[in-house]
Amino acid sequence: MDLIQKVKNKERLNQKEGKALYDLDLYTLGELADSIRKEKYGKKSYFNINRHINPTNVCADICKFCAYSASRKNPNQYTMSHEQILDIVKHSYANGAKEVHIVSAHNPNDGPEWYMGAFRKIKTLYPDLHIKAMTAAEVDFLTRQYGLSYDEVLDMMIESGVDSMPGGGAEIFDEKVREYLCKGKVTSDQWLQIHQKWHERGRQSNATMLFGHVETKAHRIDHMLRLRDLQDKTGGFNAFIPLVYQRDNNFLKVTHFPTGQEILKTYAIARILLDNIPHIKAYWASASINLALIAQEFGCDDLDGTIEKESIQSAAGAASSHGMKLEDFIGLIKNSGFIPVERDSLYNELKSYA
Ligand code: SF4
Repeated sequence: MDLIQKVKNKERLNQKEGKALYDLDLYTLGELADSIRKEKYGKKSYFNINRHINPTNVCADICKFCAYSASRKNPNQYTMSHEQILDIVKHSYANGAKEVHIVSAHNPNDGPEWYMGAFRKIKTLYPDLHIKAMTAAEVDFLTRQYGLSYDEVLDMMIESGVDSMPGGGAEIFDEKVREYLCKGKVTSDQWLQIHQKWHERGRQSNATMLFGHVETKAHRIDHMLRLRDLQDKTGGFNAFIPLVYQRDNNFLKVTHFPTGQEILKTYAIARILLDNIPHIKAYWASASINLALIAQEFGCDDLDGTIEKESIQSAAGAASSHGMKLEDFIGLIKNSGFIPVERDSLYNELKSYA
């Protein structure tokens, strides 16, 4: 059957068909993705008022694409104390943040108690603040470093007040590419296993894909289909977030970068292939706000949030280090023809700015 008709019939696509979507022209692909998005959400575009906190950049792992961790290219090490973290949270909470998104490098000097103690203190002081924290890569790091099991770390997170898990550390699941990019870090199977265990605890998470470096289009499709398979089992992923590779200050040699067209196609394909993951996020900190706004017409229904401050993407060249003012964010979404809808971390609608 014709590929376009198959998408219109909402039939599931396989690896070969998913890759063939890249051969469609941008507008045809965009229209297919947009019709799925419209059917689910109309013109609503979701965002939340959040604060990203990256408590340490000292890392025991070496990922070639990373510009955030302290290294030859970034000699400025830092590790925040709990007091410093709490000061940031206090300020953000007073400014209306409803979520803190806490992701760290793999600091061999900080044990589980450093992480869990910080979460516990935040939850005690701000019980209604959603804590999204600990990528599967961080969970895996703690198990490797301290002889713990995944179950033990995940249970500690829940006891300490973590509400949901971010989607980081997925990079690209293809084992060969992964070995080249980030040998020694959590494997693809382990990443999926950790999220499965988290979902089995009744908790939700997101999933990312880092693209636009040395991977092929086939690797991107494979990545999405592995997520679709797990989602069929657990239903625990809220959002899929394709992260555009940032090229500055790292050790990865990349000669060809994706064009804006290819990035938009990747968003659209994600919307079409991932029929069981509700939200496709154009994370503006990695895509740029301009492309993220256009991505709303290519299947994306979420632009993440105001962020306030961001250290990981911006270290590699993204223009996200200072976040975005709420009124600016709302204005940009409105001017692009969509309805900004503030959501909580689990996608309950809080306020429409129609
Ligand atoms: S991506 Fe994460 S794990 Fe890899 S080097 Fe950077 S901070 Fe460390």
